[in-house]
Formats: sequence, C-alpha cells, structure tokens
Amino acid sequence: MLIETIDSWSRKGMNHVAHQYRDHIITYGALKEHSDALAAWISQYYREHDILRQTPVIVYGHKENEMLVSFLAAVKSGNPYIPVDTSVPGDRLQQIIRSSQAKLILSPQTVPGEIFNFDLKIIENMELNSPEVYADFLGQTVPSEIFVQSEEVYYIIYTSGSTGIPKGVQIPLKALESFLKWVNSAYAPQEQQEVFLNQAPFSFDLSVMDLYMALSTGGTLWSIDKTQIASHRELFESLANSRVSFWVSTPSFADFCLLDRKFEQSLLPNLKRFLFCGEVLTHDCASKLKSRFPQAVVENLYGPTEATVAATTISITSDILEQFNPLPVGACKPDSRLIICDSDRLSEHIQACCGMLTAAPDMLEDGERGEIVIAGPNVSIGYLNNPEQTKRAFFSWEEEGVFWQAYRTGDAGAWKDGLLFFYGRLDFQVKLHGYRIELGDIEENLRKIEWVENAVVLPVVKREKIEYLQAFVTTKKAIMDEFDAGQEMRQQLKQYLPEYMIPRRLRFLEKMPMTANGKVDRRALAEGN
Ligand code: AMP
Repeated sequence: MLIETIDSWSRKGMNHVAHQYRDHIITYGALKEHSDALAAWISQYYREHDILRQTPVIVYGHKENEMLVSFLAAVKSGNPYIPVDTSVPGDRLQQIIRSSQAKLILSPQTVPGEIFNFDLKIIENMELNSPEVYADFLGQTVPSEIFVQSEEVYYIIYTSGSTGIPKGVQIPLKALESFLKWVNSAYAPQEQQEVFLNQAPFSFDLSVMDLYMALSTGGTLWSIDKTQIASHRELFESLANSRVSFWVSTPSFADFCLLDRKFEQSLLPNLKRFLFCGEVLTHDCASKLKSRFPQAVVENLYGPTEATVAATTISITSDILEQFNPLPVGACKPDSRLIICDSDRLSEHIQACCGMLTAAPDMLEDGERGEIVIAGPNVSIGYLNNPEQTKRAFFSWEEEGVFWQAYRTGDAGAWKDGLLFFYGRLDFQVKLHGYRIELGDIEENLRKIEWVENAVVLPVVKREKIEYLQAFVTTKKAIMDEFDAGQEMRQQLKQYLPEYMIPRRLRFLEKMPMTANGKVDRRALAEGN
C-alpha cells in the first residue's frame, strides 16, 4: 500500500515538491515518472541477467533527488534497496557488496574504490535531466503486483558490526508500514501541508522517519547536506527559507544549532514538532528547545534500526521536565511489546529453545533494570546473509496464534509507572553525534594495520555526553615519532571507516593494562585518561 500511496500524490498534486536539496527539487509527478521508468528498466535488466527477485540494489550518494528515485524504482521492481552514503569509504562499500551479493549499484555520483572486479552493474553519475540508462522506458509503468509485497524486504540498512564487518538489517514492507501508521497517527502531519527536515544521511535509519513520513503524507522532504552543517550562518540562512514544520534530527544536531542564539522560533515560524531519536535527549537540550520554541512539541523516540527506527515515544512536557532527569523515552507503540529481561537468563532460555520460545520471555519487575527486548511487527527479520549474528540477536515465540518476532537491543532499561527509562549499553556500542558505532569495529580495523599489535577504543564523556573517541594502541615496532605514526594510522583507517568513526585522539602504550581474569582493563584505560 505504501508505494501506491506515494504514487497517488502525483495525481493529487503533480507539481507539489516531494524533495528539495539545495536548489534541486523534484515534484511528485517527476518522482513517479522517473521511478516508474527506472523500475521498468531494472525489471528488464534483472530478467535478462537471470537475477532473482529480492536481490538488493545499492543506492550510493548523498541526498540527491536521484537517490529517492532509485529507492522507489528498486521497490517498484520488487527488490529492496541499500542506501549507502558517500561518507562510506570504498573499502566498506566493497564489504557491503560482498555481504549483500547485490548485482546493481545506482548512483548520482562516481562510485569509489576498486569495485570493478565484482560481478555487478554500476550505473554512475545518474542525472534526472539526461537519464540515459532508462530514457527509452519513460512513460512505462510497472504493474503493482511486481512491487515489494508486505512480507518482503523493502530496505536494508548496514550498521556498524562488532567484528569489523557491517551488518545488513533487513526491514520488510510490513514493518515500515506499521511504523508509519503509528507515527502518522501520533503526530498527525496534515496531508500535503508539511515540510520535514532531513538531517541524517539516508544510510542512517533516522532518515527513514522524515523520508517516509513526508512521502506517505504528500509532504515535502527538505534535506540539508553535510557541507551546510559546517557553519551556523549558512545553515540558518537556508533554514529560514525552508518552511520546516517537522524537525527530525539527532539531539546532537539540535545541540549544535542551540549554540547560536538565532536558533529560536522566529527562524522556523512554521515549526510544530521536534522528533528526536537515536541517542540520549538530555534534559538541558529539551528545556532549551522548549523555551526557545514555545509553540513546538519536543518528542523523544527510542529504538534501534532493527526495530524500524523507533518503538517508544514521549512528548517532553513541562511536567515531564520537572519530574525527570534523565528524561524517559516513553511508552511503546500499540501493536508492539517492550520487555525488560534478565540478560543472562534470557540467553540461556533462547539457547535451550534454539531461538523459538514457547511463550514471551520473563519480564523483570517495575523499576528493575535489565536488557530491553522489542517484539512486534516492526522488528526486522534478521541480518542479511548472516545467520550467526541473527541467531544471537533475534528470537521469536507464538502466543494465541500471534507470531512475535523479537530483538535483543543490548540496551539497559527499566519500566517505571508505564514509562521506559534508558540506562546506556550493556556492551561496547556507543552513539557519537547520533552515529551508532561498535567500538570493536574500529578496534578490528586498527588491528588490520600491519604494525599494530592491539587496540582498544573508548569514548571520552564530558557533561554526560560522548565528546569524542580515543584509541589506545600497542605496536609491534618501536614508534619514533608519535605524531607521524598517528597520521599514518588515521590515513590507513580512512580506507576502511567513515570519518565519524576515526578516533580523534590516539595514545601509544607499551602494553595494555589487564584485569585479573586476563581481559584488557578498559576501566583502567578510561580512568588513566
Ligand atoms: P541506531 O540503530 O543507529 O538507531 O541505534 C540504536 C541505538 O541508539 C539504541 O539501541 C540505543 O542504544 C540508542 N538510542 C536510540 N534512541 C535513543 C533515545 N531516545 N535515548 C537514548 N538512546 C537511544
């Protein structure tokens, strides 16, 4: 239904703007025309090359209109898409190609790295004004029976994996539709009226909220790109002309905007709601926003990519601000369940039942801290081509004829009087400026450098927030010049990791401190800072 709904806006308002990125706009009419034609081309290409339905299409770029066209073209031809932002280096893109076994890349840019050895077709520098590859298909449509169906995978988002290899979270159409039904009824955007801010890159699942809230309600997605974020002046000049009414971003981005006093109501007179997700919304950030934007509601949503953006929400009213610090993350979406479990007992239980429980797992008492488990139609079916990691994180049970798919978040939390509170991670995953990072991912990539012996990466926390990452490294050879060695290390890491994952500080150690049971003593490293 979602794809048909998006198409329907072209009949109701063919010239209404679907997406704006700097001066580039695409209307609902053009979005439909181009995605139909590209879908017809993909269908023919897949048929001619015996590529199976549901083989993912990688879409590489950064906010361009062509990305939206490619997303819709992929799903209209019955295949999921994998959004990959240009901040992802060539090496990581290769890992994604290998892991996803994609056979097609569509990009409005030049695709980096040595990917020409792969058995896949690359369409680079795509431009709506001269759509060479699908020009002959303009005017054609694909029958809706071909579109991605409810149980099929609609998109795949790659997240940081602790083994150094990213994991592809598969989201079926029904999960996305369940998420949209919930947020569109909770926040009531008016059809064809709203402008949604897009801050996050499309490869980060937060963007699913702004992209699809906009497209499902005939609204306009208004994107900012990474260069506009560099200065308040340029950012605010463009925001002032944006007519943004729904602000979707990480709290870190709001913190950055709040540094400038001009970030207040008169800059965004149409603003109705702030929708935050992806990391802790601090009390300080929420109270500043409420005093500078008295007409806007501040919402705190919580959830991982594996549960389709978010599973809980709460409006941060003055009452909530008065009562709670840290702030709660709210109540669960109606068709889902959020269960706080004893992590060790849950692991034993899942192992004993081989992932298929006979009933819901035991829930801890109100107020008791445990691992947050999310179950419901919004939960992913697992990681693409990765049964081991899937087995570790997902399980299911049946209850009164209803099948519950569940995901272990690895987050610590507790229910208190119907509100969920988030208490950080149970493992080595962190959030830095909204980006989800497995510290192990950076460590594995540091160890790939031939002269590195061991590496530990830790977050440096200031005023309850992670400010940057610091790497502690032991080496196989003597280091003559730490500055040069640090530069070389950064250069090498850049081949494998996006910029936001490169530790800001590096310290060379003669040996790693160890705990009594022989593990690297992370606490000693953190305290020795
Ligand atoms: P991602 O998959 O990138 O969305 O990251 C998911 C993780 O972000 C969750 O498992 C949490 O650790 C964290 N997270 C998401 N929303 C919130 C929130 N409102 N407050 C605190 N942490 C959050």
